Amino acid sequence: MFQFDDRIAVAVSGGKDSLSLLHILSKIEKDFPKSSLCAITVDEGIEGYRDEAIRIAAENCEMLKIDQITVSFKEIYGYTLDEIVEKTRNKGLTPCAYCGVLRRRALNIAAKKANADKIATAHTLDDEIQTFLLNLFHGDPLRIVRSGPKFTSENPQLTPRVKPFCEVLERESVLYAYVKGIKFQEMPCPYAGEALRNDMRIHLNRLEEKHPGIKYTLYRSIEKIRELMTSQIEETQLRSCRICGEPTTSEICQVCKILAELE
Ligand code: SF4
Ligand code: ZN
Repeated sequence: MFQFDDRIAVAVSGGKDSLSLLHILSKIEKDFPKSSLCAITVDEGIEGYRDEAIRIAAENCEMLKIDQITVSFKEIYGYTLDEIVEKTRNKGLTPCAYCGVLRRRALNIAAKKANADKIATAHTLDDEIQTFLLNLFHGDPLRIVRSGPKFTSENPQLTPRVKPFCEVLERESVLYAYVKGIKFQEMPCPYAGEALRNDMRIHLNRLEEKHPGIKYTLYRSIEKIRELMTSQIEETQLRSCRICGEPTTSEICQVCKILAELE
């Protein structure tokens, strides 16, 4: 996933997974003098939740002597997530649907500010299998090709993304944080309960309890499916969004579609 001289931007939210990843990468990175590490944090603007997470993320960065670059939805898009949720109530989409699209763009902006070669996110094996199933349930199976643990685009505007925890269970990542005494935010996002992902997490955990190892088996199957799909499907050609110029698969990017909806 990494080169010896990469400048790595770790996406740090302040939660257990991202802080465990930051601590582990900071330890490994010391052996590679030509590489460097920084943290990028997105403030979505979720009152009573994100403020605490950002404070905890900043404390960890300070302790590890890692630079932290923070960007916010408000400064980039003009709205906080709370304002977006208020404006889009009754429109059928969950807060996470907006948050996910806007955060992906915000992370890319932060990575560019940080001059990073790679963005490392703390998606665990649990996240990966949930995402796979969500792509199926949302009727978007082609996305499976693009949501793997390593994403590199030919487009220089998109910083490559890697997921070093893709084979680590969520409960192992939390265990690491506890064992190492890492301080992280324990409170879940107030909007998380509305997401289908949450139901998926509960069901997959139940299955794993009854049939130990089933998560790994599913992950291995997904890898094979992705490999087959990648060899069969041509890489989607990205073009520039007619409004903002950012890379997109359609004429207008998802971010601009959301912003138009909010006006
Ligand atoms: Fe955003 Fe949903 Fe995650 Fe909350 S749970 S931070 S709304 S993606
Ligand atoms: Zn756009």
